[in-house]
Amino acid sequence: MTKNKEFQYVRVVNFIVVIVSWVMVVILSAGFFIEFEKGTRSLGYLLFILLMGFGSVIAGTLFYVKDQLSRYVRYVTFGGFYIMYVASLLTATTDITFTFVFPCVTLFCMYIDRWFMSIVCSLVLILNGVYIVHKFNTVSKEDLGEVAYNQFTTVMLIHGFVLLLFMASLLAIVYVFYRLMRAMDHKVKEAEEAKITEERLYFRATIDGLTGVFNRRHFHEIVQEQLDDTSEESTLLLLDIDDFKQVNDQYGHLAGDQVLIEFSSILRNTIQNQGVIGRVGGEEFAVFIKGRSELEVQEVAERLRNTIKNYWIRLNESKQITITISGGIAYSKKSDTTFEELYQQADKALYQSKESGKNKITLAHFI
Ligand code: GH3
Ligand code: MG
Ligand code: MG
Repeated sequence: MTKNKEFQYVRVVNFIVVIVSWVMVVILSAGFFIEFEKGTRSLGYLLFILLMGFGSVIAGTLFYVKDQLSRYVRYVTFGGFYIMYVASLLTATTDITFTFVFPCVTLFCMYIDRWFMSIVCSLVLILNGVYIVHKFNTVSKEDLGEVAYNQFTTVMLIHGFVLLLFMASLLAIVYVFYRLMRAMDHKVKEAEEAKITEERLYFRATIDGLTGVFNRRHFHEIVQEQLDDTSEESTLLLLDIDDFKQVNDQYGHLAGDQVLIEFSSILRNTIQNQGVIGRVGGEEFAVFIKGRSELEVQEVAERLRNTIKNYWIRLNESKQITITISGGIAYSKKSDTTFEELYQQADKALYQSKESGKNKITLAHFI
């Protein structure tokens, strides 16, 4: 059961408990009142019963108003209700069938609260035990006569036996439900953990830890898959940070790492979901784009080159630097292009950019 559904369920059960308790308390009180009128009850007894019954349902209702999910709603409301029940059992004014009405109402609640259910079941058992013993103590064989007394004994024994069975099966159901829910919880937890581990492993195997883009192997796989699946035009853009070694030499390896992180972040923001991004070398990145003309991709690459050129990377409190990138674009309309073909062409174009002074994007010849 999801947390939300469980909350809904508890709320409904608490509501039912409150309503049922109010109805039962009113009915029981009316019975006691009639008996008081008839003179079979003392005023003190009546007041005690009314105080217990109404006190508990009012308290339970207040708990419900304060917090509809509170377990005290069930405990308090049913508490007073059962006190009235004992009173009616002990004074034998209540029909024996009541014994079964109470557990049935209780059955409603068992699914959500095994403690509540166990307490109530035990209570009903004890109360009925008290009832039976009390009956045997108050009824005498002489008063009833042999036949009636035997009948009474049989009824009482059957009553006790059926009740015992009933309660025992309820408790068994509670126990089975409890074990089932525990087993289900365990299975769900296991499945969740397995999923997290799988995701973590997948993440580690496919994502570059420093920059968060696909690693070279996974990028290769994905691009080849996309090339196999599509007959659309496809473009590979290779990007290499210019004179990156100098950044490392001058500011240290950590500063170099930071440059890589910031660059990949700008790259991701620029490309968004237009293409697939991978880190294919130390400071070399690649972007695969489908369904765009080479000029459109060139435009994107130029925009990126300009953004990078003008972006100040803050290395520490006092040091900010800018970097430039060079790029090569390979474009293909062939339906059977391979990753290697595209990569080779893009690499050649990138080499030309570097050779002709860096901070440039070169478009490879069509293949
Ligand atoms: P060019 O303009 O020709 O590309 O020159 P370059 O200095 O950028 O290229 P070169 O291949 O000479 O140097 C790349 C450097 O990148 C060397 C290597 O130490 C550094 N590098 C590779 N991976 C990482 C990394 O993960 N972090 C850091 N800080 N440096 C890296
Ligand atoms: Mg470089
Ligand atoms: Mg390089």
